[in-house]
Amino acid sequence: MESISFIIPAYNEEKNVVELNHRISQEMERLGLNYEILFIDDGSKDQTFPVIKEMAKQDPHVLAIKFSRNFGKEAAIFCGLAQSSGDAVIVMDADLQHPVSAIETMIQQWKAGYQIVEAKKKERQNETKLHRFFSNCFYKMLNSLSGFDLNNLSDFKLLDRRAVGILNRLTERQTFFRALSGWMGFNTCFVEFEVADRFSGTSKWSFKSLARYAVNNICSFSSKPLQFVTGCGLIFLAFAILLGINTLYNYFNGRAFSGFTTVILLILILGSVLMISLGIIGFYLAKIYEEVKGRPRYLIQELVKKEENFKNHGIMNK
Ligand code: UDP
Ligand code: MG
Repeated sequence: MESISFIIPAYNEEKNVVELNHRISQEMERLGLNYEILFIDDGSKDQTFPVIKEMAKQDPHVLAIKFSRNFGKEAAIFCGLAQSSGDAVIVMDADLQHPVSAIETMIQQWKAGYQIVEAKKKERQNETKLHRFFSNCFYKMLNSLSGFDLNNLSDFKLLDRRAVGILNRLTERQTFFRALSGWMGFNTCFVEFEVADRFSGTSKWSFKSLARYAVNNICSFSSKPLQFVTGCGLIFLAFAILLGINTLYNYFNGRAFSGFTTVILLILILGSVLMISLGIIGFYLAKIYEEVKGRPRYLIQELVKKEENFKNHGIMNK
């Protein structure tokens, strides 16, 4: 019989994890499939880990993992992928925004031969106009820069073991899980789902963290911004030639001291373009620096399973 692994990254989700475990277990019993649920506590400050640890001690389907600190959702997802053993893996948020009712269709599509089943958000009504505007801008930019259309996609997806194996073998650390499934290709199908409200707690995203997330992911998936630097250089070269001719013409006609406005404008424009260009190069340099250091993406402090409760010390794989 096929088995399914659920990967649930959780950061300060003490009030949600029990309910999610309950809902998934009920659904899987109903479908009559083997399953395991991996809760990865991403350095929560509340009681999330004690709660999932207790569940892991009681329920043989549950595995509780605790990071040594907050490493971010991407790290938690990749830790889950590395620890999972199911024939297919489903990644879900811990806050019950991803409905358990979509799982059945996702598994059906997987059994029908799709290696990747992407759950696509139906249009959300309760989002603010500003949020929708920025998220649309981000996806349009990412789409034109990287060639992947991620609009309305989420981290809620099912991956076949083969795809999981590939993700586990990636050596890059600055990952963007949402886009990597598209990058892998394979047979992909889309299932729509209605985003539910958070069961309890608040979203961890602030405008600042979303902006950082957007810039990071664009840099991870495209090097086109670097070409912007070259493009600007070429445009300015053209201007320089025209202005150079103009200046020389004025000089030979005895009108060399006019044109201060042009000089000021040129300094301002050139200055800002140079700064932006340096900034873009800096972003990529920082990414290369992070990758070259090759530090582990996360550190596991504790891993709890029923029967074999054991502690891991030091650096775990990756
Ligand atoms: N999450 C995490 N580490 C973090 C931030 C979030 O593991 O540093 C988890 C969080 O517990 C939840 C999921 O990622 O399961 C999505 O987070 P959130 O609900 O805050 O994001 P939103 O749904 O608002 O996009
Ligand atoms: Mg959420």
